[in-house]
Amino acid sequence: GAARESVRSIVGVQFRNLATVGGSIFGRFGFSDVLTLFLALDTEVELVHAGRMPLAEFACSKRDRDVLVRLIVKKHEGVTVYQSHRNSRTDFPVLTCAVRVEDGKGCVVLGARPVKAARVELPAELAEKLAAGKASAEELKAAASEISDQFTYGSNMRGSAEYRHHLGRVLLRRCMEEIQKKEEQ
Ligand SMILES: Cc1cc2nc3c(=O)[nH]c(=O)nc-3n(C[C@H](O)[C@H](O)[C@H](O)COP(=O)(O)OP(=O)(O)OC[C@H]3O[C@@H](n4cnc5c(N)ncnc54)[C@H](O)[C@@H]3O)c2cc1C
Repeated sequence: GAARESVRSIVGVQFRNLATVGGSIFGRFGFSDVLTLFLALDTEVELVHAGRMPLAEFACSKRDRDVLVRLIVKKHEGVTVYQSHRNSRTDFPVLTCAVRVEDGKGCVVLGARPVKAARVELPAELAEKLAAGKASAEELKAAASEISDQFTYGSNMRGSAEYRHHLGRVLLRRCMEEIQKKEEQ
């Protein structure tokens, strides 16, 4: 459900039927829900001139006149969850968050900070606990706080840096709780 959740709040159905994944990824927009989701997955991009590279590398590169041909998403077993916060429904996000846990590893992506999404790896011990559904509420709260501190936050008309940092802690904890629930099912 992570992919569905990541695009659910982007304007409306008619708009989404026109917007493309290629345009969303190539734009490398700071507010991008789409970039946040695909960074959490094991994704590569293929460009006409630059060839194939990890999406994380492409996301940091400067915009040029290359053409994005395809997005390659590896089909690993794993659980990915996505959440975002918006001040009002269908507005641009104030913060986006994706968490993936797979095979004793995991990662967290926070976007719309308001700069573009960035990814950090989860500590192996925490990833294993999440996969086993064994992290306590206190552990999740502490981990969410620690991980959100690793990102930088800025202010714009949608929210202050302090508010985004607070949201980072909340969305991360909720995403990790959701992963534990999914693993239990
Ligand atoms: C009102 C509004 C609200 C939005 N809200 C959100 C939101 O909340 N969350 C979110 O994630 N996004 C949001 N978006 C962005 C939207 O989802 C699309 O990502 C964006 O509009 C790009 O649209 P497009 O696919 O038509 O690309 P285009 O607008 O056609 O392209 C974007 C740019 O990329 C270039 N380009 C397109 N495809 C390629 C390619 N394959 N290779 C190389 N260059 C390419 C184009 O030349 C252009 O410069 C919003 C957009 C609008 C207008």
